[in-house]
Amino acid sequence: MKKNDLLTLKIEGMGNEGEGIGKADGFPLFIKDALPGDVIRAKILKVKKTYGYARLTEILTPSPDRAKPPCPLHRSCGGCQIQALSYEKQLEYKREKVRNHLIRIGGFTDPEVFPVLGMEEPFRYRNKAQFPFGRDREGNIITGFYAGRTHSIISNTDCMLGVPENQRILKTILDFMEKEKIAPYDETSGEGLLRHVLIRKGFATGELMVCLIINGSRVPAVEELADRLFEIPGMTSLTLNVNQKNTNVIMGEKLIPVRGPAFITDWIGSVRYQISPLSFYQVNPAQTKRLYETALDYAGLTGSETVWDLYCGIGTISLFLAQKAGKVYGVEAVPQAVEDAGKNARLNGLSNVEFYLGKAEEVLPKQYEQNKVRADVIVVDPPRKGCGRACLDTMLSMAPKRIVYVSCDSATLARDLKILCEGGYELREVQPVDMFPQTAGIETVCLLTGRF
Ligand code: SAH
Repeated sequence: MKKNDLLTLKIEGMGNEGEGIGKADGFPLFIKDALPGDVIRAKILKVKKTYGYARLTEILTPSPDRAKPPCPLHRSCGGCQIQALSYEKQLEYKREKVRNHLIRIGGFTDPEVFPVLGMEEPFRYRNKAQFPFGRDREGNIITGFYAGRTHSIISNTDCMLGVPENQRILKTILDFMEKEKIAPYDETSGEGLLRHVLIRKGFATGELMVCLIINGSRVPAVEELADRLFEIPGMTSLTLNVNQKNTNVIMGEKLIPVRGPAFITDWIGSVRYQISPLSFYQVNPAQTKRLYETALDYAGLTGSETVWDLYCGIGTISLFLAQKAGKVYGVEAVPQAVEDAGKNARLNGLSNVEFYLGKAEEVLPKQYEQNKVRADVIVVDPPRKGCGRACLDTMLSMAPKRIVYVSCDSATLARDLKILCEGGYELREVQPVDMFPQTAGIETVCLLTGRF
């Protein structure tokens, strides 16, 4: 088998990124946009020792699980991976993915994984989008999304996962750029002003935030842009964010308010949150509520417990827990998020919460060694790379009755659960929640209890 060979294949499985997997003479090939059940023609792209990659050239017999994808750009755009798969099958596939990771990486034998909590309407669910600016081949200014694994922009102002307001906001900004001759940022030369726009909507309040990420310190005629944007119903906050580094990281550190407060407000259940552009906030509000309710249920609070919420962001989970706990301590590495967290505690009249700025793997060991802090329950919600080893080791030393692990990456989740279970914990419940329909991503909440 070699590059450019053409093959006929039946797709039998799905990879971690939503790619179809088919076998040619027992040799597994990963094929983007091919779905389990398809019989396809494919061209070999790359052959490695134990697997390879191929490109889908023709679907000979479509899988019975195919659904009509509503977005015409679903194949070229890197945002969605499995839009052509029926939603029901997406949920089945995600449940299997979590289970496989628990077995293969976590070393669990036959773990029970509950059916994924899915959405009734699995489109237009995202409250946040970050659109890059660039130029097409003719030199026109465009915005949209990156194609998979590249930085070439697929022009699109109306992503089906995002809110309808995105379109008007983006058109207003594009018109303004043409009129004021504002150049989009060019990654190769490092020139041009406008890099990205971050748009966030409070689904409960309807408030809209626009933050322009710029390679400079000001935007010419920005007041005029503000006038135009504030004609859009819901607009409450326009800010600039300065990022002059040649980096893939979207946001810089400096925030300049232009009009309105430098945050929007939103509700999840009965808790109210202020969110600044630099803070993490879950992107799917409807599912976030179910995720947090599950986490709260797993925490098993009766009113007197001491709880640590690690990787707490703007204190979303911390405040949910504080309603039912004795005392909650949050730990978060981003300064603006910790600032938001403190404000949010006051906003909700919750005085039994305290936040620490710093890395969980540094703050927790230090607090444990120096101040002998303790916990009845520890909740963690780390980024994709999972928890730091020092953090897990300290959790084991603190020996809380319950650990609630909220994860957006089932591979690192499985790795960390293995460490916690080797340290004496037992995995009790595994509940995946579909926060990212049409993509390969899956969020999972787990309950672990101590055998003490
Ligand atoms: N629990 C929150 C945030 C989860 S996202 C919520 O549901 O909204 C993960 C958070 O961890 C982000 O806010 C990120 O800034 C933070 N973070 C990343 N690395 C960290 C570390 N090493 N220590 C503490 N926080 C970290």
